[in-house]
Formats: sequence, C-alpha cells, structure tokens
Amino acid sequence: MTAREKTDVDLLGPVRLSECGSWATTDGTPFGPVSDVRCPDTTHCLNLAPCEDGRIGAHDRNHTGRCRWIGSTVLDDRHTIARGRLFIIGDVIGVRPEVVSYE
Ligand SMILES: [Zn+2]
Repeated sequence: MTAREKTDVDLLGPVRLSECGSWATTDGTPFGPVSDVRCPDTTHCLNLAPCEDGRIGAHDRNHTGRCRWIGSTVLDDRHTIARGRLFIIGDVIGVRPEVVSYE
C-alpha cells in the first residue's frame, strides 16, 4: 500500500510553483527542496499545504469537503521567476505580482 490515497490524482491538472505564489523549503532558501506550497484554492485553503513527492498533500480548509487540488502535481518553475520578485517572510518564500504597465 502506498501512502498516497487512490483519489490523490491530478483532478485539476498540474500547477506551477509560480502560480501557487508562495512555498516553504526544507532549508529555508528560495531554491531549496520544497516542503510546502500555497494551495491554488486561495478562497478555501488559507495555509500552506504539504508538498509530498512533488504533489499537494492533504491540508485543512475553511470549507466542507476535500480540496480538489490534493494530489495535483507541482511543477517547479522557480528558475523562470525573476530574482527581484522573490521575497522571504519567516519560513515562507513568496512571489511579488508582476508590475503591469498599461501605458
Ligand atoms: Zn486546497
């Protein structure tokens, strides 16, 4: 038996780390091994979710039912994020929104 439940599959497709917007690493550096990610369901999942074997693990939410992002593959696209957009608060690494000019 594996640790992953049968239902832990990519129901919503893979998600890129840059889309998650924030994550934590085991060594506290922006490019270290990812331990937790911000769930893409930012309405109902308010805290970081564990990232296990490159997938979003089970996590608490403020809504009934199971989060559909559980089991989704997390694609590591950190190398595409400009260094100036990364910031660290405590144990969490975040990505500042891109500045868009409408001129
Ligand atoms: Zn979630």
